[in-house]
Amino acid sequence: MDDRGIVIVGAGEAGVRAAFALREKGYEGSVTLIGDEPHLPYERPPLSKPVSEAEAVRAIVAGERFAETGIAFKRGQRVAALRPSEHQLVLEDGEALGYRRLLLATGATPRQLPIMSACGVLASDRIHVLRTVEHAAAIRRYMGEGKRIGIIGGGFIGLELAAMGRMLGAAVTLIEVQPRVLMRGVPEKLALALQVRHAAEGVELICGVAINAISADSDSVVVTLGDARRIEADILVVGIGAQPNTALAAEAGLAIENGIAVDAQLRTSDPDIFAAGDCCSFPVAIYGARRVRLESWRNAQEQGSLAAANMRGAGEMFVGIPWFWSDQYDLTLQVAGLADGAVREVARSLSPGAEILFHLDGEGRLIAASGLGPGGAVARDIRLAEMLIAKAAKPDPGALADPAVKLKSLL
Ligand SMILES: Cc1cc2nc3c(=O)[nH]c(=O)nc-3n(C[C@H](O)[C@H](O)[C@H](O)COP(=O)(O)OP(=O)(O)OC[C@H]3O[C@@H](n4cnc5c(N)ncnc54)[C@H](O)[C@@H]3O)c2cc1C
Repeated sequence: MDDRGIVIVGAGEAGVRAAFALREKGYEGSVTLIGDEPHLPYERPPLSKPVSEAEAVRAIVAGERFAETGIAFKRGQRVAALRPSEHQLVLEDGEALGYRRLLLATGATPRQLPIMSACGVLASDRIHVLRTVEHAAAIRRYMGEGKRIGIIGGGFIGLELAAMGRMLGAAVTLIEVQPRVLMRGVPEKLALALQVRHAAEGVELICGVAINAISADSDSVVVTLGDARRIEADILVVGIGAQPNTALAAEAGLAIENGIAVDAQLRTSDPDIFAAGDCCSFPVAIYGARRVRLESWRNAQEQGSLAAANMRGAGEMFVGIPWFWSDQYDLTLQVAGLADGAVREVARSLSPGAEILFHLDGEGRLIAASGLGPGGAVARDIRLAEMLIAKAAKPDPGALADPAVKLKSLL
């Protein structure tokens, strides 16, 4: 390595993990972490969970760790351009930095509804998305008794916010244009169980309707639905997914394919530039190298670590199994693997109110498992299912369904 060292763009989960993993693995060259947010790096999952305001901002690392480990942290600075042929990047203020190896960990940006610009409400302070601490603080102001929250999107962020709103006493209406919530990546049975729970908690859930118009003034926001219903709220949160931050990479000529395209070692189309976390798409070995992009906390961590090793030439393959969790009320949902190639579903009841679904492909191979239950009820079995998925196991469906058979014995 020459003295230009390693530069990481994006001080979120993946970028921070990569920076510290470099030091943990004994790299003594220069490490520079650049993030455009003004804060110390923080965890995003608590932003949509009903924790106290103080707990909602949880640092990924204590600030002093940067000086202690000799990681140069440039915060509140945006990288404006990459010049791969010169091994250089340029900050927004014009400063140029050289690198030997570069990691792009630029994350993702919430999508906006096209109808918002058509209705001229893009700039309304009554309408929000949720990605940053600033977004979370703006939304939290409306999370109490006597407030009305409208949510568009029945994905994880929308549902977690709905639960948080109800737990803090607000009236919540959630609008999903699809026929049910969590259409992507969660089996119908568990998604419907969550819908039932939200309804029981008092969330007004409206599925399968078009959104015809959105208007806002200084006091409220109104969503007009395809069936002419009007939903009025104090605040509207749009949670319809996020798009990968690929502009830097695309302008520098790197390959883009639903995210910055990387190979199994997380290397982009430029051999000295790697990418990790929400911003990249990568091939998943156990699904025949199918290319996916994940927005999940553990994936960002695992890829940050692996990119750190591979920027130093380890040449290791990414073998992580897709996994995420979502907390709503006292329930936790966990999904491991990709269930969309499944032809058979086998259910196993755990404790009361806790169930795991195993998803098998046409050859009887376990390709995914999804579980829903109170607290940590499904965590252990999902972990064991992950190990079965990683081994491409073909467990007996009868044994999977029988809670008396320990999953460990099937490994
Ligand atoms: C509200 C919320 C709740 C979540 N809850 C869960 C959960 O319960 N379970 C789960 O598995 N996952 C959850 N996630 C997803 C998880 O937090 C993300 O997958 C993870 O944070 C992604 O990390 P990342 O480092 O790839 O991206 P990010 O954390 O987005 O970090 C990227 C950083 O790069 C910065 N950046 C971008 N471009 C530039 C540039 N040009 N110059 C400098 N800096 C730049 C961005 O501003 C950002 O700070 C949640 C996400 C959110 C938003």
